[in-house]
Amino acid sequence: MKTVRTVTDLRAALAPARRAERSVGLVPTMGALHDGHLSLIRHARADCDVVVVSIFVNPKQFGAGEDLAGYPRDEKRDRALAESEGADLLFVPAVQEIYPTGFDTTVTVGELTEVLCGAPERRGAEHFAGVTTIVTKLFNIVQPHAAYFGQKDAQQGLVIRKLVRDLEIPVRVEICPTVREPDGLAMSSRNAYLDPDERARALALSRALDAGEARVAAGERSAGAVLAAARAELDAAGLEAEYLELRSAEDLSCAERVNGSTLLAVAARVGPARLIDNTILGGT
Ligand code: AMP
Repeated sequence: MKTVRTVTDLRAALAPARRAERSVGLVPTMGALHDGHLSLIRHARADCDVVVVSIFVNPKQFGAGEDLAGYPRDEKRDRALAESEGADLLFVPAVQEIYPTGFDTTVTVGELTEVLCGAPERRGAEHFAGVTTIVTKLFNIVQPHAAYFGQKDAQQGLVIRKLVRDLEIPVRVEICPTVREPDGLAMSSRNAYLDPDERARALALSRALDAGEARVAAGERSAGAVLAAARAELDAAGLEAEYLELRSAEDLSCAERVNGSTLLAVAARVGPARLIDNTILGGT
């Protein structure tokens, strides 16, 4: 596996594959790789001839007061993990390479970015503007045939699909299932912030989703009842949800009832970490 740090070197490294019309898969990450990221690399490896993993802690998607400075970084460890999953190229650009002095363009998606994590009192739509700007830039740099994202960030996946559709970006967006710890906690680079007590309480997020799923499996369809069952799990752990909502898994419109594909999404602060999780409820 080759590590490249500049756009020029990345393009040069990909040129032979492009000439040979080999398929290119991109896995964009912020590093601190865990099994969730590795599952994306495995999906890309299974689908594509050439797998590019990017590691870039994107300052534009962190708000003031968020954890940009303290975000976990360990390139050596990440390199070993990406290589062991068969990645071909690791793209690790410096901030100046991506946002050189004078960089002044933002790519924004509309309403999908204004709810859940994007609500003004939370991370705000600016967070997703940071995401869509870096993802557009990475798509233009790498020009992948397919790009791999996790269902863990359900809203991000929908926003990227919308970006690609609206701007006719020629890339296939693959959303891969959430990878969990054996006890159910969704894997996240931010889990590293949790002490043992917080780690135990963080489990309430996935428990809340399980409780919602159980109500739906038992025939419940009303949003109020499903949300109440989920909220009871958060309450039991002493967690206050930043949000706990049922929305259409297609367009994030509010769901009064569980009908077809409905997203149950939760965000909560656990000690120093802001954690999110979600599940798609069936029910017809
Ligand atoms: P991040 O490094 O947190 O920006 O995440 C990079 C990619 O990995 C995003 O597409 C995430 O949705 C995905 N991802 C993060 N955690 C998980 C997980 N537990 N399971 C599956 N994908 C994940």
